[in-house]
Amino acid sequence: MSVTHRKQLLSGNEAIARGAYEAGVLFASAYPGTPSTEILENLISYDGIYCEWSPNEKVALEVGVGACYAGARTLVAMKHVGVNVAADPLFTLSYTGIRGGMVLVTADDPELHSSQNEQDNRNYAKFAKVPMLDPADSQEAKDYVALALDISEQFDTPVLLRSTTRVSHSQSSVSLSEPDRTTHAGKVSIVKDPPKLVMLPANARKRHVVVEERMKRLREFADTFRENVMEINDTDIGIITAGISYQYAKEIFPNASYLKLGMVYPLPEKLIREFSGKVKRLLVIEELDPFIEEQVRAMGLETSGKENVPILGELNPDIVASSLSGYVFKESVPMEKPELPPRPPNMCPGCPHRGIFYALSKSKVFVAGDIGCYTLAFLPPLQAIDTCLCMGASIGHAVGIDKVMGKEGQGKVAAVIGDSTFFHSGITPLIDAAYNKSSATICILDNRTTAMTGAQQNPGTGKTLMGEDTHRVDIPALAKSIGINRVRKVDPYDIQKTREIVTEELDVDEISVIISESPCVLLKGARRKEWEVLSVDHDKCTGCKACIMLGCPAIGWDPEGINGKGKKGRSVIDEMLCIGCTMCQQLCKFDAIVKVP
Ligand code: SF4
Ligand code: SF4
Repeated sequence: MSVTHRKQLLSGNEAIARGAYEAGVLFASAYPGTPSTEILENLISYDGIYCEWSPNEKVALEVGVGACYAGARTLVAMKHVGVNVAADPLFTLSYTGIRGGMVLVTADDPELHSSQNEQDNRNYAKFAKVPMLDPADSQEAKDYVALALDISEQFDTPVLLRSTTRVSHSQSSVSLSEPDRTTHAGKVSIVKDPPKLVMLPANARKRHVVVEERMKRLREFADTFRENVMEINDTDIGIITAGISYQYAKEIFPNASYLKLGMVYPLPEKLIREFSGKVKRLLVIEELDPFIEEQVRAMGLETSGKENVPILGELNPDIVASSLSGYVFKESVPMEKPELPPRPPNMCPGCPHRGIFYALSKSKVFVAGDIGCYTLAFLPPLQAIDTCLCMGASIGHAVGIDKVMGKEGQGKVAAVIGDSTFFHSGITPLIDAAYNKSSATICILDNRTTAMTGAQQNPGTGKTLMGEDTHRVDIPALAKSIGINRVRKVDPYDIQKTREIVTEELDVDEISVIISESPCVLLKGARRKEWEVLSVDHDKCTGCKACIMLGCPAIGWDPEGINGKGKKGRSVIDEMLCIGCTMCQQLCKFDAIVKVP
């Protein structure tokens, strides 16, 4: 691959997409999830690469494995918790190995910017016995894709490429190379190889031997891997680090000696021992788990690490400086942090989810929740979500609660799940609910997009990532086909009707599905023609706060404003935010919410 000398400012995710294009990737699959989503969104803009949104990460990896078994260089991308979903195929893929190079991008989210946990996916590399690369900036993010594919093919293994939110979403300058789009395309073919690809016990036992031998060779390779780099400066302290932590450490300790690891699993033991011999004290700086530190200690080397560096959340130069003040080589300069006004999260003004959550909150039922924008309905004033564990868990929660509660739980348990999350992992538990005769009420919030990650296509939208029209999953027909007799659709903007249907379905002694159907208001064409911006007629407002209970960000409360009763306290509508959905108007018994004159 030759360098073009053309430079471009790219985010880590854009760089990973570019790296896949340059390295001859032919197939890419993913389920959208922050901070990984933009990888496929960028990859689709390059010619000659089949890209798909799969219904979930397990499927994304399985279709990717099919492509790599057929000899295609393949990239599969997901957020860190997505790897939990894909772990089943991943662990045995480590046994079968690959044909075309396979890179699995895991985008970790230290600090939980948009996730339900901050697991450190470096542990997956050790657990699944596959190598892992950990880029520190966009240039490395791009270059490591090609390196990962080369290592994959050299060692017959999938390779994990770990990004973190700061690498995925920060921009830096990247040197572009000429793409190699032909070398690998010629290798696509169907090859039967049952001893390698059919993991029955007799074959898998033999493949486990292959995996252990591969690990031995990979450990030797790590010692000579060109991205594991020693920088010898002041030898009082030697810092072992990788990924974004290297950037933070370098900013605070520019004169220290470094062993910067491009490959964080397996570790280069000889190189670490050599580095240790050159410095007086070892220090490991890494985000989240003591992943490197524990392995260095297991080598019998003394090192400092998590007794100083926080195990929780992201690091940054300030945190590195303050947690390691005893090691400081120079006075660290505290970063000037601008004071930002607090901005609590909330569903958008006019969000269709608000109607169904209002109905559920009025019913005072236990609502098993799921992952999506709608999880924000747990906040006051709606407070209509009572659990949130992982993608697709809500229906199973409702079934379990309903079963142990028996008759006492009748009419008291509901689940909510968005359309994309339903396709991801809600269908199987819905089959369970029907098969095992649960009487919970399941609300599927069909807003015809994967809203939380920025409106990606899904099996309910009728479009593929490649831009083709396709079959749209018919959710009512699907529910009926698995034995659910009661399937109702509601327009969530019709507050009265939505409440009636929720009450009726909670009352029945059998499983029922309510589909709250209306597109996300951020989608083009979602706003209804008849909607006009509303305002509050303060002469009529009594200050009853009924409209406030919707939790719409366009409605505020003015405690000093004089209401129609001559008392203090009235609601106000921000006309810049209101989209005229009329939900609040339907709740006002005093006709105080009117079209802007
Ligand atoms: S529901 Fe109507 S009367 Fe009550 S606070 Fe809102 S605008 Fe005022
Ligand atoms: S009509 Fe009411 S609920 Fe709808 S966006 Fe405007 S203020 Fe919010």
